[in-house]
Amino acid sequence: MSALLKQRIGSGLTVAAKAAGVRIFDSQGRDYIDGSGGAMTVSIGHGVSTVLAAIQRQAEAVCFTYRTQFTTEPAEQLASELTALAPEGINAAFFVNSGSEATELAMRAAIQYWREVGQPGKTRILGRQISYHGMTMGALSMSGHPARRKDYGDLLHPFAVGPVADNWGRTAGERPNELESSDAWDKAIAQAGADTVAALIVEPVIGAAGGALVPPIGHLRMLRNVFDRNGILLITDEVITGIGRTGTWFASEHDGVVPDLIAVGKGMTSGYTPMGAVLFHDRIVEAMRQGSGMAPFGHTFSGNPLSAAASLAVLRYIRDNDVLANVKARAAQLQAGLHDLQRRYTALQWVRGRGLLWGFDLRKPDPAATASTGALFAADCFAEGLIVYPAGIAPRDHAAIVSPPLTITANDMNDLLRRLEAGLRRFTARAI
Ligand code: PLP
Repeated sequence: MSALLKQRIGSGLTVAAKAAGVRIFDSQGRDYIDGSGGAMTVSIGHGVSTVLAAIQRQAEAVCFTYRTQFTTEPAEQLASELTALAPEGINAAFFVNSGSEATELAMRAAIQYWREVGQPGKTRILGRQISYHGMTMGALSMSGHPARRKDYGDLLHPFAVGPVADNWGRTAGERPNELESSDAWDKAIAQAGADTVAALIVEPVIGAAGGALVPPIGHLRMLRNVFDRNGILLITDEVITGIGRTGTWFASEHDGVVPDLIAVGKGMTSGYTPMGAVLFHDRIVEAMRQGSGMAPFGHTFSGNPLSAAASLAVLRYIRDNDVLANVKARAAQLQAGLHDLQRRYTALQWVRGRGLLWGFDLRKPDPAATASTGALFAADCFAEGLIVYPAGIAPRDHAAIVSPPLTITANDMNDLLRRLEAGLRRFTARAI
């Protein structure tokens, strides 16, 4: 057995030996299209020379300093360029090393805000029933993810989960599930006790937990209004959707919503190095400044200079190459391709998505199968040289996500769709 523990202990994994653009090559030289960008992470493709050069330059200058002793040029520059892209009123960033650290920091910042303004009883976070905000205990406490929570029971913080609509756009013309109406949220807030709730945390598009469930435009605005009138902050978890994934820099822009805190991760470095961040609205920073005067957050590697240099190079690549225009063009191509497959394969159902974040449900090929349907489909696509991300939570774990690098070309998208069809054929054959 290898010394490196795998998720399924004792199992093996293909060795990735090289990657370029949208392709990963294994140690046998076989290529795979990175159709999910790993875990919705690779935003500008593999091996981009300006990012490699930025990391190298920074490594030669200074690899590490500690956040309370020094700042560095790339960390300062990244904070100002990242917040310049964020919605109006968001002018401060704090860097961490992962999405989980980002959502957990947003949680602590929301709790601190209320303490600073004299309401220390507001310490709970409300989340959605279907959601994922990370693996650390605070992040998991906010997540509507029974499969990952089940082993920890009452060790998790006693937060509440509110409703979720799980059928947005399932059938043309179908009314969105009333479960997530403003009345339902008002009730959930009343039940939790508005004076105990610091913030609502939501993913603008529900990612891994739901398989890219996309609320209609206007939904986030409705949530903002409901939580505003109940005196509760809004945290958007843009760990997947941030930095261009849905065709705008931040997904909250589609609704014209300005959150109080935004958590980002994954795509901000395109996976070249680990990094996450929380972006703060002025009102949060001002309360902390006038109160304790402290932002008592951070980890040893917060603001790591190599990651800051990588992220800065990624942001500039997206901006300078008009990558968001490519997202729009390729999104239309992917949407058309997925709908075409849906028409021809009954196994593929309920296609939905925004930008280059798409999901669909899969019909279980064999009713007796115990494995996750999404995982079976991902294995079939892998055998055809395509990586997709299995999504959903048991017993609704029959979804998959397609979220290729935002830089994918039209030709590579056609190749992706061809391999997806080959994967679907394999998957369909399982039923026979
Ligand atoms: N938030 C969302 C929406 C995610 O999808 C994830 C990871 O998949 C996280 C937070 C946690 O990020 P990380 O795995 O980098 O800790």
